Amino acid sequence: MVNNMCDKKTLWEKTVDFHGHACPGLAMGFRAAELALDALGCDRSVDEELVAVVENNACGVDALQMLTGCTFGKGNLFFRDLGKTVYTIVRRKDNNAVRVAVRYGSTFDPDFKAIKERATSVSASQQDKAHYQEALKKRINSILSAGPEVFDIKKTVLEVPETASIYQTLQCSECGEGVMEPRARIKNGRVVCMPCEGESGR
Ligand SMILES: [Zn+2]
Ligand SMILES: [Zn+2]
Repeated sequence: MVNNMCDKKTLWEKTVDFHGHACPGLAMGFRAAELALDALGCDRSVDEELVAVVENNACGVDALQMLTGCTFGKGNLFFRDLGKTVYTIVRRKDNNAVRVAVRYGSTFDPDFKAIKERATSVSASQQDKAHYQEALKKRINSILSAGPEVFDIKKTVLEVPETASIYQTLQCSECGEGVMEPRARIKNGRVVCMPCEGESGR
């Protein structure tokens, strides 16, 4: 992937706009996605069919969505609730995948932690806050240019789930709202949605 600083900045800024703020977590997901796309040999000018599997649902996932085009709404973003800073990107046509994991402890920075604590304490001065903004910028920039010392990058092959099926919508006999067929339940012989199934005594 050819990516000069100018393009990168624009893409990063767009990502910050999408996410709402610039934070180290967002930078982590941004860099992880960038490295994964590079390792896959994806040319971003071509709209390749990619699938992403994320193992956390924190800030970084927003960056991954921006860079890979894998989104929750398109059904090509899968969330495995494992609490790990791991992102896997798969190319649908050949199942080639790249798994990027943030190395444990590699981003721990006690100085940054202390600066942040000072700036967010009740007695923080304007100077403490300015100092923190400066340190935050530095930290984000260092993550955005990090390499294998932070990210463990492995090529793998992964079978990806089929594209989202379109299901029939049934009507819940209790609330009257529509519900996708596989999520509908039967209660006393009538179709109900899951929230209505759970509400006894109605
Ligand atoms: Zn954030
Ligand atoms: Zn209902």
